[in-house]
Amino acid sequence: MQIGPYLITVTFAANVPAPDTSPPSTIFFNPNTNLPDPRLAVVQPLTPLASNFPPLAFQAQKVAVQALHATGLPVDESDYLAIGAGLGSFVWADLLRISGVPTEKIIALGLEAEPYARYKRLCLNSQIPLYERLRSNSDSCPDNIWGWPSYALREAWHDFSKGQINPAFKYLWQVFAEPTFAETYTPRAGNVFDSIDREAKRISWNQIYRYGRVRGIRKTDDGRYCVAYSRGPGNYAFLVSRYLHLATGYPAIQFLPDLQAYREKYQDFQSVVNAYEAHDHVYEQLEQQGGTVLIRGRGIVASRIVQRIYEARKRNPNIAVLHLMRSPKPQGNKFQNTQRLVKNHYEFQPFNWPKACWGGELRAMLEKATPDERKRLLADWGGTTTADRHDWQQITAQGLSEGWYQITFGEVLDVERDAQNRTITHIREQSLGEMKLLADFIVDATGLDAKVDANPLLADLVKHYTSQLTTWGD
Ligand SMILES: Cc1cc2nc3c(=O)[nH]c(=O)nc-3n(C[C@H](O)[C@H](O)[C@H](O)COP(=O)(O)OP(=O)(O)OC[C@H]3O[C@@H](n4cnc5c(N)ncnc54)[C@H](O)[C@@H]3O)c2cc1C
Repeated sequence: MQIGPYLITVTFAANVPAPDTSPPSTIFFNPNTNLPDPRLAVVQPLTPLASNFPPLAFQAQKVAVQALHATGLPVDESDYLAIGAGLGSFVWADLLRISGVPTEKIIALGLEAEPYARYKRLCLNSQIPLYERLRSNSDSCPDNIWGWPSYALREAWHDFSKGQINPAFKYLWQVFAEPTFAETYTPRAGNVFDSIDREAKRISWNQIYRYGRVRGIRKTDDGRYCVAYSRGPGNYAFLVSRYLHLATGYPAIQFLPDLQAYREKYQDFQSVVNAYEAHDHVYEQLEQQGGTVLIRGRGIVASRIVQRIYEARKRNPNIAVLHLMRSPKPQGNKFQNTQRLVKNHYEFQPFNWPKACWGGELRAMLEKATPDERKRLLADWGGTTTADRHDWQQITAQGLSEGWYQITFGEVLDVERDAQNRTITHIREQSLGEMKLLADFIVDATGLDAKVDANPLLADLVKHYTSQLTTWGD
């Protein structure tokens, strides 16, 4: 199943099969709170697999619409059905509304009424407060298909009207000169969410959105799609639709196997955390008592965590960071005549893919490529990178020169806890051999899991219709 770079998948424990703890381990989402719940990775699924919903009729390749009615459960119909009701669903529904489709012909089924609810939560958890800037650029406007006026123009106008002339000109200069002569402009998270709220109101999203946890998707015998969903405990229903859009976000938080093993062994969900979980307690304790944090991963999330610790150090300078990386990064990825910049073992790229992958010549190249070539191209263009932000580079350089930020390379052998409840990471360093790294907290900043099989809804769809996956298993 091929998915766009930002149309990603998420899932919930409600119909999560017994978890596979083989690497990479995952954290599942608590179906009651829709929040990551590390404990669900080691307990039984909340909805037993033997649950009698969806009904037996869903075992057919093509479900007879009559069989749905025969269950006696509510069956609704719509022309357009978006599953997820997150940002992907919102953008699709917005486009349909702009194209003239009336509200009553579109349904978006999901778990949270605000289309950005999950995205906002992941941003806040990974230390992007509302005033901080996202990664995508000025004309990436989920509220506005034309990308005009862009976020830079809107922010410049806002600041200009408040008499703040210099920042207003700075944003305009950025969009004019980026990325060669200026740092790429990126919008503040809060401005993006507010703009989505305005567009949601304009297209009557509240009439499009319906609460529902989708349990299964099938083709019908009359050429449509049907969806079995739950509206609450024991409250089941079906929706039959002509067009179906699926955008369920990231299925799970990716967790390094040794850290997952530590959490399971010590039942310690406080000292070892994933950057996408709520973990503000880490910074609160550091600000009060000082301490050492070990960071794993060197992408954009790690950059934000270092920035957050830099801010915490202004309240308590007694905080140190050990950044553990698997291997040095002496030079950046090369593609044709271009090469990515590397500083202090961080590799830079404004977005997670080069911009031309979305609509420019790289997209055309990708479309023409064979599966093997495509795999090579994506490996060259993607990988772990962070945004080319001068403030982050300045923080890293300052931390290294002042000694509170250190980078260590090594392969992790094991993570355990000492008598003082501190974590000990045993690593094998290339020249020094085995070493121990002591830390009060470990933050896993290695990302989110986008694999189809981590999402039971998608996994079921792929299995039921024996769909072909990409070479990555997506
Ligand atoms: C920290 C962070 C920063 C990011 N920065 C950027 C950025 O700068 N620019 C950018 O363009 N993108 C960014 N992204 C990516 C962006 O969040 C995603 O591209 C976007 O949210 C994907 O949309 P989606 O609809 O697929 O998933 P989501 O927005 O996550 O929505 C999916 C929804 O599906 C619901 N759902 C899942 N399973 C079911 C089910 N079985 N039944 C019913 N509902 C279900 C979930 O509750 C969720 O609300 C960022 C992501 C993160 C985490």
